[in-house]
Amino acid sequence: MSNPVMLASGINKSYLDGDREITVLNQLDFSLQAGEQVAIIGSSGSGKSTLLNILGGLDRPSSGTVMVQQQDLFACSEKQRAALRNQALGFVYQFHHLLPEFTALENVAMPLLLRQRPIPEVRQKAADLLAAVGLASRMTHKPAQLSGGERQRVAIARALVGEPGCVLMDEPTGNLDRSTAAEVQLVIDRLNEEQGIAFVLVTHDPELAARTSRILELKDGQLVAHS
Ligand code: ADP
Ligand code: MG
Repeated sequence: MSNPVMLASGINKSYLDGDREITVLNQLDFSLQAGEQVAIIGSSGSGKSTLLNILGGLDRPSSGTVMVQQQDLFACSEKQRAALRNQALGFVYQFHHLLPEFTALENVAMPLLLRQRPIPEVRQKAADLLAAVGLASRMTHKPAQLSGGERQRVAIARALVGEPGCVLMDEPTGNLDRSTAAEVQLVIDRLNEEQGIAFVLVTHDPELAARTSRILELKDGQLVAHS
């Protein structure tokens, strides 16, 4: 287990509910190897989204560290954290969060445009990724003109555009019907196999979890191997 792409140690997270403290994550440890595909399951309210947001640098733990590419995600400045996220991590939200007034191509290109990369290069990259998720014929469609599975695939392409080593997905098939979920699963498997991208999939879909190489259950604030 050398050189993990992500290493979280001693993660604690609690929220104040009135004057009562609720502990959601309790001394949680997690490591992810390059090219690995891991599912995180757990009952509703067990803290899966809380954990994913912390691993992705979107939320701060009460204590503990998350190392991404040998860098401490929370011991750096806001600006450095944003740069590390942009460059090393991709995030797919439960509800795709695409920008409704932009085309699929523009949505995918956005993270690179924000980095002020040359437009022709960005267009090419975004187009290649949309083709890779099977949307070559949907580039100029806006989110409202796409099906649920297509929107989710655009969100995946957008998460990949910065060439991250690791993509975090919160319930990627949660709002999709069976056949559309299967379509998204295939795309994840292929990107994992062909490009060696590591995936952390938070899911309560047993079929999606079963396809990964490791299933962890979030229980009482910790991750335990699921047999
Ligand atoms: P899951 O994704 O597994 O359903 P969450 O991570 O969304 O669970 O939530 C875990 C627990 O933390 C829940 O009890 C939830 O109410 C609580 N929680 C999540 N976010 C907040 C917050 N911002 N403030 C207070 N409590 C929160
Ligand atoms: Mg959740």
